[in-house]
Amino acid sequence: MQLAASLDRLGTESAFEVLARAQALMAKGQDVINLGIGQPDFPTPEHVVEAAAKALRDGHHGYTPANGIRPLREAVARDVHAHRGVEVDPDAVVIVPGGKVTMAFAIMMFGEPGAEILYPDPGFPIYRSLIEYTGAKAVPIRLPEASGFSFVAEEVLAQITPQTRLLIVNSPANPTGGVVPQRELDILVDGLRRHPQVAVLSDEIYARMVYDGERHASLLAYPEIRDRLILLDGWSKTYAMTGWRIGYGIWPKALVDHATRLAINTHSCVNAATQYAAIAALDGPQTAAGNMMVAFDRRRLRVLDLLNDLPGFRCVRPKGAFYAFPNIEGTGLPARELQDRLLAETGVALIAGTSFGIHGEGFIRVSYAASMERIEEAIARIRTWLETR
Ligand code: PLP
Repeated sequence: MQLAASLDRLGTESAFEVLARAQALMAKGQDVINLGIGQPDFPTPEHVVEAAAKALRDGHHGYTPANGIRPLREAVARDVHAHRGVEVDPDAVVIVPGGKVTMAFAIMMFGEPGAEILYPDPGFPIYRSLIEYTGAKAVPIRLPEASGFSFVAEEVLAQITPQTRLLIVNSPANPTGGVVPQRELDILVDGLRRHPQVAVLSDEIYARMVYDGERHASLLAYPEIRDRLILLDGWSKTYAMTGWRIGYGIWPKALVDHATRLAINTHSCVNAATQYAAIAALDGPQTAAGNMMVAFDRRRLRVLDLLNDLPGFRCVRPKGAFYAFPNIEGTGLPARELQDRLLAETGVALIAGTSFGIHGEGFIRVSYAASMERIEEAIARIRTWLETR
């Protein structure tokens, strides 16, 4: 067999690899606490599950339009208006099987040899993987700990060259829990006037997970860049629906047909029952999603205190998502070694910062998508290990 060379450039998400190792240890009877996973530990709200079951009973068994059923795209437009204060044409919405697919489509539309794409580092590892897969040059945007893991807009603008085609922004962010302040977005958008060739992918999959009474600042709310802004969001995190595989993109007019054509060429459509469930999630009671956020917020503050109390650890206050990203340089161990030894020797699964890019060295990702008791137990195990090793 002669495989395409591009396959060698495809990276991966090591969270899945750590998950597999954690599961292997569990199968051997070890009590593993998994703080490595990037998904809520809550069930999908009951009324959402019921809507999917009803859709199947009602006979929604066939293909749907590739861009998604109209009532769902209308529900997305209403939701975006409610939470971001922006009017969206339902025909600009393309429903896809998970947030990742909007990401893949955007990167495929702009990436090719000779092109440059800017992406956050530390950041979701799939950005770099897909950029390199297309043959484009992946240019990391540094997210400094000192600025709460937000980018510095002037630094981002200084990295733009005539070859830059796409800029990826993720706020609130994986793996850091960082949120980009509104004023940095203002500076960024203002500076982008000088670079009209640069499109923007705003990954706002954690938009509803913002704490400390802050309101999510969306790049969709800037009319200046609306004609080149791709918004990525979905149901995975907000409604604990990671396994359903559904998300959406809001595309500028010039790109929406390309996105739909990519959908037709790849997955045809998201399964019909899940689309009905997604309507119920947006239009139905928000109690379960709200309760989940209250739980995440309580855990966030507890995790922050506990991590800052560990020898060799220091952690900036995460402002969004459900991750903390402590600096572990004081332990004297590289991130990967700390990850591997904590899993093998204490049964606690965390993800090395280096899994999220070169600027992730010296950090480790702690997902607080686990019960308070398990989080406390995990950090107690880490403390004992650090004190006795
Ligand atoms: N974007 C970011 C920043 C994420 O962390 C994730 C999932 O972890 C996704 C996108 C993908 O979400 P989905 O599971 O809906 O594909």
